[in-house]
Amino acid sequence: MAKEHEGRAVGIDLGTTYSCVAVWLDQHQRVEIIHNDQGNRTTPSFVAFNNEQRLMVMLLRINLLLTLKTLSLVNFYFYYLLLHVYAKRLTGRKFSDLVVQRDILLWPFKVISGVNDKPMITVNYKGQEKHFCAEEISSMLLTKMREVAEAYLGSPVKNAVVTVPAYFNDSQRKATIDAGTIAGLNVIRIINEPTAAAIAYGLDKRNDCDGNRNIFVFDLGGGTFDVSILTIKGDLFEVKATAGNTHLGGEDFDNRMVNYFVEELKKKNKVDIKQNPKSLRRLRTACERAKRILSFAFVTTVEVDALFMGIDFSSSITRAKFEELNMDFFNECMNIVDTCLRDSKIYKSNIDDIVLVGGSSRIPKVQELLLEFFKGKELFMGINPDEAVAYGAAVQAAILSEGFKNAPNLVLRDVTPLSLGIATYKENIMSVVIPRNTSIPVKKTNGYFTLYDNQCIVDFPVYEGERPRATDNNLLGSFRLHCLPAPRGHPLEACFSIDENGILTVTAREISTGNMNAITITNDKERLSMFDIEKMIKEAAKYHVEDMQFLRRAKVMCALDSCVYNMKNALKKNNVNLILTPQEIEKINNAITVAMNLLDKNNKEKEIDVLEGHLEDLESMSKHLISKANNFIFLG
Ligand code: ADP
Ligand code: MG
Repeated sequence: MAKEHEGRAVGIDLGTTYSCVAVWLDQHQRVEIIHNDQGNRTTPSFVAFNNEQRLMVMLLRINLLLTLKTLSLVNFYFYYLLLHVYAKRLTGRKFSDLVVQRDILLWPFKVISGVNDKPMITVNYKGQEKHFCAEEISSMLLTKMREVAEAYLGSPVKNAVVTVPAYFNDSQRKATIDAGTIAGLNVIRIINEPTAAAIAYGLDKRNDCDGNRNIFVFDLGGGTFDVSILTIKGDLFEVKATAGNTHLGGEDFDNRMVNYFVEELKKKNKVDIKQNPKSLRRLRTACERAKRILSFAFVTTVEVDALFMGIDFSSSITRAKFEELNMDFFNECMNIVDTCLRDSKIYKSNIDDIVLVGGSSRIPKVQELLLEFFKGKELFMGINPDEAVAYGAAVQAAILSEGFKNAPNLVLRDVTPLSLGIATYKENIMSVVIPRNTSIPVKKTNGYFTLYDNQCIVDFPVYEGERPRATDNNLLGSFRLHCLPAPRGHPLEACFSIDENGILTVTAREISTGNMNAITITNDKERLSMFDIEKMIKEAAKYHVEDMQFLRRAKVMCALDSCVYNMKNALKKNNVNLILTPQEIEKINNAITVAMNLLDKNNKEKEIDVLEGHLEDLESMSKHLISKANNFIFLG
């Protein structure tokens, strides 16, 4: 394979809670996870500011930082924040919207509304109030990871493969590339976290399997949950399906425990610490620690001295209680596992390996549910769940960059997580061009027709999502095609292409003239949050019945519209008087008027049965007209 990128590229797992950087050691033909200046192999995804300087948190323990009053700490949850940046912009929510405001409350830093209502993080830096957008903050983390790699390699690092949750939409992928650019890194490829983990796992395995090997990757991290099913065949790593929830992870489990103790404090000490962010933060840190302990112990204590109003908090929690508090989250994980398997069309008995990734996959209950689901099939925990993603990214980086002569040979084929298409203008139907879980890169073309005679402008609204009604999905962008005047039904085509990074470009063309227009969906377009994506998929299932009704209605409306158009044209012909009696003409005209009333925009709630009944009448009139016309050689 021709190597496109100069120098040695590294692989970076830019996690919600921890980040990790790795490099392929060509001489030893293995991956090295690079330790930071603290000697740790993973680095907290935190950025802190004080009046004098910006500190990367690994310089100090987080706990220590939390007690340093001089520091205004930016506890930056990268994906979390992106989620809110996009959620607000995409669903047209204002900054003051309750949903946005509620989440902001949980963050130990101020967020304000910036240009275009973009949330901006506010910090005091060098005596001034500074505002940063999500990309800027993540670029700080990427910079740190680049420096960690440079210190180890002893040379500048320009290129990197960066991983993202499989469920990131193309706007968020673009934002990640932008963050790399800000950090002085050329992001040569964006790959999905579970796919990267599968590479880490499958690299050795592929030698000792003849035929296909089906791998199931379960990645439960701090703020995101991703599952993917891959098939390895020789050098080909092919993703079959992916699913996830980008708002589900360890932090949610921590929150449940925090709330549990907040209630206990209310009862026992008659205080509500919810009003005090600092106390809440300290309790949360203690809960996170307790949660980890409960992964190997059955009971633990949570102690925070001088938590609130002089109260020294001390309490205990059992593993059983922790599981009870989070059981709905764990069940949600298993539902997603089930969806992914169904999408992949692979039976669970045909899964060869189950690979656990992400810190939260260490939770015993999660493992127990997985074991039960896969009927006792052994779970693979041999690779470090904190490092597997960066490991896979480093392998991919080695394959793509020229600095490595002995990089392994493997071809990665990933999928797109959401269906992409165009709203057919009049009936608002989602015309899917690329269905979800299609292998990328991919290029697909669909044909369309103009709706009116002499229609010179055609709009192409591009959507992502699983609902049949286009406007129930997320609008990615829209563009216009100018065409020459022509009768209705003038042919056009739209071409969707998704590159290796999952970024979409759409072009539309008037076939006769070759007139073209194109858009690349970028992050300055209004985009959907991951939260909304999940909501849409859930809604898609819930509203399936309603959707079917909508499709049935849209279909009959289209047919009726087309029938009216044809009959009106037929009635315009000179010789129609020779074919039909005046009574027949009047009957048809009446039927057309009724149909047009039914088609009227304001008549949306008309019963489908009524529409279908009238269509039947009109079609039989049309048949009658044609059969009569066939007896008259002049018609036409
Ligand atoms: P991300 O990829 O989202 O940055 P990680 O895979 O690094 O996340 O996982 C971090 C999460 O895993 C945190 O919520 C942390 O509390 C949780 N975690 C780490 N170790 C354990 C453990 N032993 N038991 C339970 N949760 C754990
Ligand atoms: Mg992760």
